[in-house]
Amino acid sequence: MDPRMSAKFPFLRGSLEFAQGNSADLDSLFLSDSFLPARIRGRERVTDALGAGEVTYRPLMRDYDCLMEVMSYPYARMLVSVIGDRFLTKRYALGEAVRMNRLLQGESQRIVADISGELGFKASTDESGIMKMSFPDYLTLSGRLKSIDWKLINCDVRSGTVYISKDKFSRLMQNAFQDKIESELPLMPPDEYLPVLKKDAAPLEAALNEAKARMSPAGGEGMKDEYLPPCITHLLDMSMKGLNLPHSGRFALVTFMRSMGLDYDGIIRIFAQSPDFDESKSEYQIKHITGELNGNDPYNPPECKTMKTNGLCYEPDELCGKVNHPLNYYRLKANHKKRDQERGS
Ligand code: SF4
Repeated sequence: MDPRMSAKFPFLRGSLEFAQGNSADLDSLFLSDSFLPARIRGRERVTDALGAGEVTYRPLMRDYDCLMEVMSYPYARMLVSVIGDRFLTKRYALGEAVRMNRLLQGESQRIVADISGELGFKASTDESGIMKMSFPDYLTLSGRLKSIDWKLINCDVRSGTVYISKDKFSRLMQNAFQDKIESELPLMPPDEYLPVLKKDAAPLEAALNEAKARMSPAGGEGMKDEYLPPCITHLLDMSMKGLNLPHSGRFALVTFMRSMGLDYDGIIRIFAQSPDFDESKSEYQIKHITGELNGNDPYNPPECKTMKTNGLCYEPDELCGKVNHPLNYYRLKANHKKRDQERGS
């Protein structure tokens, strides 16, 4: 494979062959001075993903630089693995997948179809350059995309085949690649390399904590009651007054509080006011919802539409008309307050 293609798409089989053909192995990657650029770039891949949410790409000319770029990819994956944080794994997988999507935009339909094949999704093109994929694959990959553009009603579906533009197809491949990376991690090297990896991982852990705080709706400043949406304020009030919350209300409250950065102790304190409070039962429910019980992904707080369906939307105010999610309400209100303070009002 052309070294520049390998640098762009280091996850392809041809890129692995390019690396093997240049005697790049774990020993060189971890211990050789000549592979230091690959280790530095590997760290950069992770910080890019944590920061801008996209691993950067620079066009490279020299074969050596391309090799470093290719080897930085497994190094980044091992760095993420040794840190072992679910948020980081997801963020990193997203950063790599967004990068790939951007690069696919500049490739021909044939190359895009070849790459999708390596990601496990068969595709072909017709004479007009439209891409074709199976209907079940489309459903699998588009299910999490909320925009109306992805709804079946807006798709060209004929005889079990979806006809789709290259740009939209590449966007679906972003999801496929993100899932693939998440499913492949953790990827740990043999123990002898762990000291090198752990040394490089230490500054990334600090960056990870900063990113988590920055990205939480509370912006790392802790939850402020004044920004809470009416529905959550009402659920909190009910809980504090010792009134019984319906299951959907407890679920909404726990998922919202977790998203705001509250830990188990913070959340259980809220429910301790309830008349039927039973710590072991509440502990089970909270840890199940937050994913602590079985190591699963935590549940997300319900959006306004679901809150309304469950009868939990309570006295919506003017700001509610501008949001579709209670977390967005919090963010928007906090932003308004910040803006007003900067203006000195
Ligand atoms: S509109 Fe949304 S944010 Fe506002 S009270 Fe209803 S559910 Fe909560």
